[in-house]
Amino acid sequence: MSSDPKRMAVVLAAALLAVVPAASARASDHRQSAGAHIASALRGSPVYVDPAYGTAVPPSRQRRLAAEIKRTRLPIKVVLTPLTKGDAFDGESDVLADVVHDRLPQRELILITTDGDFPDTLNGYEWPSDTHQTEDAVRATAFLDETREAGLADMTAKAVRLVAEGDGTKVYEEATKDLDGPSPEADAAGATKSASHGPRSWPWLPIGGAALTVLALALVGGRLAARRRRSRTAAVPELVFATARAADETELRRRAETEVLALGEATREAPVERTPALQRALDAYTAAGTVLDAARGVPDLAGVLALVAEGENALSGAAAPLPLCFFNPLHGRATTRATWRPLGRRDRLRVATCPDCASALARHRPPEVLTDTGPDGRTVPYFEVPARRSVWAATGYGSYGSPTEQVNRGDFTRSLS
Ligand SMILES: [Zn+2]
Repeated sequence: MSSDPKRMAVVLAAALLAVVPAASARASDHRQSAGAHIASALRGSPVYVDPAYGTAVPPSRQRRLAAEIKRTRLPIKVVLTPLTKGDAFDGESDVLADVVHDRLPQRELILITTDGDFPDTLNGYEWPSDTHQTEDAVRATAFLDETREAGLADMTAKAVRLVAEGDGTKVYEEATKDLDGPSPEADAAGATKSASHGPRSWPWLPIGGAALTVLALALVGGRLAARRRRSRTAAVPELVFATARAADETELRRRAETEVLALGEATREAPVERTPALQRALDAYTAAGTVLDAARGVPDLAGVLALVAEGENALSGAAAPLPLCFFNPLHGRATTRATWRPLGRRDRLRVATCPDCASALARHRPPEVLTDTGPDGRTVPYFEVPARRSVWAATGYGSYGSPTEQVNRGDFTRSLS
């Protein structure tokens, strides 16, 4: 069996050599114009998203991605476009990457693209090669627990972060080490991984020249795709709950980060003369950054969202803006205010609530509340934590106090000790 693939490869390579020149003249124009279109868009923003992905990665999300890329100070560009056999790039992200790179003025480039075989996976390329472990960093996103169910936008954001961290190979190896169990295909998969790093693992490669390289890459790509297909279904059922919780927090942290970035951007862009509460927005932005940096868990991350909401309210100039839902800020913006008497207490509180919680109160049912860890280690509704230990209990996430004021006068930092 060992010599057959080699023979076949040579035959196929010869066939490819015969076919390529005839087809290439027609395909070339289409390819160059598609490449030019993408490259020209990339001069305005580091993120190009084909209209087909406009729902998965809407313009607001594209701007956030662009802001995240800017923060890395790396020459990262992102191209999210459907790739299918017979299109301008013949469904090959490698071809897309080369064409786009040729069309851009910059020689140093890190490119993250969609994959031709799997629309929900990404590929990474870089020039000069192997400077930021980009290939592994981007590929790792297909294997991480936290991105297993992530959409294209979150996956791309994670890829950007992993490239920026510069430790992609280790992350990739960590993420895939449990997948290479004692399965009959494990060896082939292992060989594929090293082969994908360079042609030296293919001893018969020099025989056929360029076309054979194309063929080798196609074979590697095919096996890599098969490997991805296996690994993405390789869930570990007994760990689902624990990882789901971890993913919740990871997802929330990511959301908090992007919201803070967006608030910063909105604050910078706000016209000074028409934004009387600009200083309050800036204060909220500062407070959100403080909490984000030191956030210990979900209640603090929810606090970041509450601070961002305070900042947005300041920018909006609305007369009596509402904060996030008092019972659980993760419910989103409050739409109304309600009077509520906590169980076992005489005094009533005036709180802002989302529609679901308002309707629960109206039916005398307990709303779904955000919990925190009380002083004795028990899980309690967050507002039952003593106020000196929690800015969130002290303010109801903005329902009866300003988290921004308390954070900026040091209450949050003090509560950490
Ligand atoms: Zn609610």
